[in-house]
Amino acid sequence: MLRITDVILKTDHSADEIGTAVLKRLRIVKKRLLSTKVVKRSYDARNKENILFVYTLDVEIENEKEILDKIKTYKKISLAPDTEYRFKAKANSQNFKRPVVIGSGPCGLFCALILAQAGFRPLIIERGKPVKERSADTFGFWRGGHFDPASNIQFGEGGAGTFSDGKLNTQIRDTENYRIKVLNELASAGAPDEIRFVSKPHIGTFRLVKVVENIRNKIIELGGEYLFETQVTDLMSENGEVTGLVLSNGGTIGTDSAVLAIGHSARDTFEMLLNRGVTMEPKPFSVGFRIEHPQELIDRARLGKYAGDDRFGAADYKLVHHCSNGRSVYTFCMCPGGRVVAATSEEGCVVTNGMSQYQRNDVNANSAIVVGVKPSDFFTGVPGGVEFQRDIERKTFLLGGGDYKAPTQLVGDFLKGVPSASQGTVKPSYQPGVKWTELSSLLPEFAINAIREAIPEFAKQIKGFDMYDAVLTGSETRTSSPVRIVRGDDFQSVSVRGLFPGGEGAGYAGGIMSASIDGIKIAEAVSLRIVNGDR
Ligand SMILES: Cc1cc2nc3c(=O)[nH]c(=O)nc-3n(C[C@H](O)[C@H](O)[C@H](O)COP(=O)(O)OP(=O)(O)OC[C@H]3O[C@@H](n4cnc5c(N)ncnc54)[C@H](O)[C@@H]3O)c2cc1C
Repeated sequence: MLRITDVILKTDHSADEIGTAVLKRLRIVKKRLLSTKVVKRSYDARNKENILFVYTLDVEIENEKEILDKIKTYKKISLAPDTEYRFKAKANSQNFKRPVVIGSGPCGLFCALILAQAGFRPLIIERGKPVKERSADTFGFWRGGHFDPASNIQFGEGGAGTFSDGKLNTQIRDTENYRIKVLNELASAGAPDEIRFVSKPHIGTFRLVKVVENIRNKIIELGGEYLFETQVTDLMSENGEVTGLVLSNGGTIGTDSAVLAIGHSARDTFEMLLNRGVTMEPKPFSVGFRIEHPQELIDRARLGKYAGDDRFGAADYKLVHHCSNGRSVYTFCMCPGGRVVAATSEEGCVVTNGMSQYQRNDVNANSAIVVGVKPSDFFTGVPGGVEFQRDIERKTFLLGGGDYKAPTQLVGDFLKGVPSASQGTVKPSYQPGVKWTELSSLLPEFAINAIREAIPEFAKQIKGFDMYDAVLTGSETRTSSPVRIVRGDDFQSVSVRGLFPGGEGAGYAGGIMSASIDGIKIAEAVSLRIVNGDR
């Protein structure tokens, strides 16, 4: 198999033109070309008058050796790399204590899937409900219903990213084909097939729900088991080794391998781990608001004459500004054609985040606009970051009127420092509703000043980013974990052997893809430990 990179074609090219480009690049006749597979498609939008598709292709041809023998005479052609994921260890007996995975977000789900595929029949313990019931609770709350701290956008099967845009971006260097493994598993569980090759894959909320269910079924078919609505409330250990877990239903589970895939919002579990002497440290994260613009405005700025063209979909952005007060403001988790969602997991708090459906066809674009904070900003030890987040979330709840509505302000009023009384041309999408007000009391002064400085700077890259009627909604606090549960190179806690902290909550991942990959790496570490008899 040969790999051909940088095959550039017009965006309205026909299917035949890919083959023609391959023949031309390889200088071969048509009958020698046996198959062509798109492994990556991105677009080059540097010239907005002439946007082009850029392909990476894997091709099979007759007499490949002839090309390989004189490969140096070809441009951007090489032997296709191996794309297979290989298990590090598989169960060679049934003589082991069943590994337990705590949490069924991307980290827990992929950890459990790999353990199941390797024959280790994991037990998955999830504090929330199965994904369909959880969806009903979460959407019910958004429609003005009751808020359930046990079943919401953060807690329940599928974890925090289930009701999201489902972006699968990552910067991770992937020499072991983890990313490909994740994409292939997601696609075979019902995600759009194109995620295997587009440069910025996304799944969207409704499809994610089905994907999570299908992966659960696969794990169960392979001998795995789930306990829903069951929280791990305590850790049992002897001589620095895990021996078991205490559950919210009063029961206990004996195990010597417990994977902590608990996400960044499991504040009560963080507290329990601290009390049990598990080594943790505070870590930086970011706070800010959600900003909403008409998607049309972003499309025009990004895609020029191609704005609204289905071939490109709704445009995105990623912006950063280093401020005069030494802070950095950046946009994060941008959701094209999406909506701002209520993302608290605690009563009496308001937290924002964003989601989109696969089609990304809602009228607004939204993104977090956040400022980095470091442990010295809250300086009260390990729980300090949680308290810092919670304080903002409670103030936001009260400013919104104390009924889970979110406080909002027009960008123009925010920049001038005056309260807003009503919406302009951009309708805020946050449910169960908003209250127009002034947001500057919600964040430390340095953060407000930094965001005020950054918005006009961002408008230099996206014309209209500072439009008067754009909407700011408070407050975005759950950008990443405020703590790190420290682990060694063997993926085990440095203080309790057999405890494997992973994913976003442990401070080792940020986003669906990196949390999934971390889950796979932990599954490998658990498998090796069992097989090598370290247990
Ligand atoms: C609205 C929203 C949109 C997002 N959009 C994107 C996006 O488009 N792309 C992207 O890459 N990332 C996105 N993210 C971030 C992404 O979801 C997280 O990075 C990812 O889910 C982290 O995975 P995780 O498995 O480490 O933790 P989580 O997904 O948080 O999963 C942790 C799980 O553990 C369970 N749990 C916690 N404590 C216990 C306990 N004591 N006992 C039993 N179970 C427990 C929880 O109920 C939860 O299901 C979004 C997040 C949100 C909230």
